[in-house]
Amino acid sequence: MQQRVVVLGSTGSIGQSTLDVIGRHPERYRVHALAALRQIDLLEAQIDRFNPEVVVVVDAAAATELKARLVNRGCAVDVQTGADALVKLAQRPEVHTVMAAIVGAAGLPSALAAAEAGKRVLLANKEALVMAGPVFMDAVRRSGAVLLPIDSEHNAIFQSLPANYQVNPEVHGISHIVLTASGGPFRGYKREQLANVTPEQAVSHPKWSMGPKISVDSASLMNKGLEVIEAHFLFGLPAEQIKVVVHPQSTIHSLVQYVDGSVLAELGEPDMRTPIAHALAWPERIQSGVSLLDLVACGQFDFAAPDLEAFPCLSLAYEALQRGGSAPAVLNAANEVAVAAFLDQKIAFLEIPEVIRQTLSQIPATPLTDLDSVLRVDARARSYAQSLVESRQ
Ligand code: NAD
Ligand code: MG
Repeated sequence: MQQRVVVLGSTGSIGQSTLDVIGRHPERYRVHALAALRQIDLLEAQIDRFNPEVVVVVDAAAATELKARLVNRGCAVDVQTGADALVKLAQRPEVHTVMAAIVGAAGLPSALAAAEAGKRVLLANKEALVMAGPVFMDAVRRSGAVLLPIDSEHNAIFQSLPANYQVNPEVHGISHIVLTASGGPFRGYKREQLANVTPEQAVSHPKWSMGPKISVDSASLMNKGLEVIEAHFLFGLPAEQIKVVVHPQSTIHSLVQYVDGSVLAELGEPDMRTPIAHALAWPERIQSGVSLLDLVACGQFDFAAPDLEAFPCLSLAYEALQRGGSAPAVLNAANEVAVAAFLDQKIAFLEIPEVIRQTLSQIPATPLTDLDSVLRVDARARSYAQSLVESRQ
């Protein structure tokens, strides 16, 4: 039977890679719905190729324009608009699998709705877990949803851990997990060299092709910080058991170290179609379009400790995780505001961690109980971080 798949964020980097993998296996997967913010030219091409039943365009004006174009061509797709439509889409009974690939906090309500509805959730939107980890994981446990990580590091860890190890973690002898970081475009830079870097430099990642927000996060090492928090919630490990190592080749996607000295890892080309295909087919395996790794051509692997003085965002993320409760949600909100301001050339690269540090110190950590409590903290932290950005201009 074909799996009916919803692709949330279909016009983004992960969304397009997902459709590339799905397009290779029409007998296994049927695209039930596509959703994006407003990129309707690309959406139109995706509709022609995959013939979905529903398309959600969150931006109302763009939705109206797409509807008009489709009516003109006699194409009968149901076009909906608004953020609520994303949540309803993720919960439709006929949907089996939801790819959650919207960027940032905007992706949380729909990803959580898919988890609550017991779907097979392919989670690319790491911000959802960072903001709402306890609420999200609780929803997964209660509904029996199958949560499969798309983030390459977490997918690698998932593949390197024993199946169902959380049922009885002690017997599996996990010492710690190691997340690899490419180091981003500014790897090796000292603090002084980061003072005048531009958004254009920050988004040109040496190894991975990604959307602008996560590219800046990779450049500041906040991406790795968010991933440490993501790993904590996904794998139920404390911060002390989650380490980070810089590995510029990005071939080893992450590792698990066991108490007997064994190290298990997943390796491959830096191409997100591998974790996407893994999660789509799990526990089976399918072709992803990614070429097989040529170890001889790889040559050498390098490793280094992260430079926490030049890249304080990683330490801020560990701090937020240690504080617990709403602190990771505050970290995420302040980071989203600071990254947007940096991309708009309103603040300098080195001001990103400053905005986050001050927001974290200003807003006390409180327990998170449900989506509303998360969204309240998110709004408060955003407004504080925004005021900091404005005071710096
Ligand atoms: P992107 O910027 O390329 O795409 C973002 C997608 O989200 C687009 O389809 C856009 O239309 C949609 N979107 C944005 N704002 C929205 C809103 N308010 N409502 C509805 N849709 C909205 O981003 P990306 O690089 O594909 O990343 C997507 C997510 O996956 C992020 O959370 C990122 O951290 C994570 N991720 C990405 C990669 C990667 O290689 N790109 C790797 C690991 C994890
Ligand atoms: Mg990653």
